[in-house]
Amino acid sequence: MITPGKADYHIHYYIDGCAKKEMTFENIERASREMGLTEIAVLKHYSECMPNGKSDWAAWHTVKEEEFERYLKEFREYTQKEGLIIHSGVETELVDDKGRINIGKEAQDKIELIALSVHYMPEMEKIKPPFLYHPAMDKKKLEEDENAKKELKRWKELIEDLGCEYFIAGIVNGYISAIRNNPKIRQLSHMYDGLYPLRTYYVPYERIPEKRLIEMMEPLMKAMTEHDVLWELTCDNAGCEGILKRADEMGVRFVATSDAHMFEGAWGRFSDHIAAERYIESLELTKGVVNW
Ligand SMILES: [Zn+2]
Ligand SMILES: [Zn+2]
Repeated sequence: MITPGKADYHIHYYIDGCAKKEMTFENIERASREMGLTEIAVLKHYSECMPNGKSDWAAWHTVKEEEFERYLKEFREYTQKEGLIIHSGVETELVDDKGRINIGKEAQDKIELIALSVHYMPEMEKIKPPFLYHPAMDKKKLEEDENAKKELKRWKELIEDLGCEYFIAGIVNGYISAIRNNPKIRQLSHMYDGLYPLRTYYVPYERIPEKRLIEMMEPLMKAMTEHDVLWELTCDNAGCEGILKRADEMGVRFVATSDAHMFEGAWGRFSDHIAAERYIESLELTKGVVNW
C-alpha cells in the first residue's frame, strides 16, 4: 500500500465555538508533527445562511465576518516552520441541488481551500417546504413534540412520493455543479460512502441495489477525479464499501481526518487521525493529497 505524504485538511480552529480553546496554530502544529503529518489545513466554519433563514440552526451558525477576518489575520501572522505546510480554508456546506455552496466568491478569494460538507439535507427542487428539524440534533423533539411529529410524518411521506433515487440524484448533481463552479473545493467532507445525508434523514436507500447506487454515484466520482477533489474519510464506518471501491477504481483519492475540534475528549479528537489513516488502508483505498 502506497502511503503518500500524510495530510489532514479538516482541523478546526479555536475561534469557532465548537472547537476547544487549545486549538491554536501552535498547538495544532505540535500535534501534527507528533503524528507525522506533513500538510494540514486549519479551517474556519463559514456559512452565509442557515436552512431556517436565521443566524442559528441546530448545531450551526452563520459566519460572523469579524471572526473570519480575525482567523485570516492570525493565519497570516503565524510563521510556518519547515516540514509542515499549513493551509488556510473553510468548512462550508452544499446548499442545494444546483450546486450553490455556503460561501461567496469574495470570501473564497481570501482562503486556499474549501472542504465541502453536507451538514443537512441540501435544498432540492421538489423538497418544498424543507424539513427543518435535524434528525440527530432534534431527536428528542421529533419523538415528543406534536408539531415535530407531524412534520416528520409529512417528511417521510414526501420521501415515499419522491423515491430514494430523487435524493441521490439531487446530492450528486449538487456536488458536481459545486465542484465545477468552485475550483477551491479540494475535498468533500463528511463523505462516508456518499449517502450520509440520506442515512441521517431517513431516506431508505438500502432498498436500492448496490449496483444501482454505484451507477448513480459514478458521475460524481468522475467529476472528483477530473477536478482533483479528495474523498474524506474518518475512522467511523463509512457504510457501503462497494461505492468506495468503485470510486477508487475510477481514480478518486481518499484522505483521512478526525474532524478535529480538540486534542483529547469524547469526540473530534485530533489523535483519531491515525485511526482514519488505518481505516483507509484496511479498505485498500488509495490515499491522495491536494494537487496544488
Ligand atoms: Zn462539519
Ligand atoms: Zn468539521
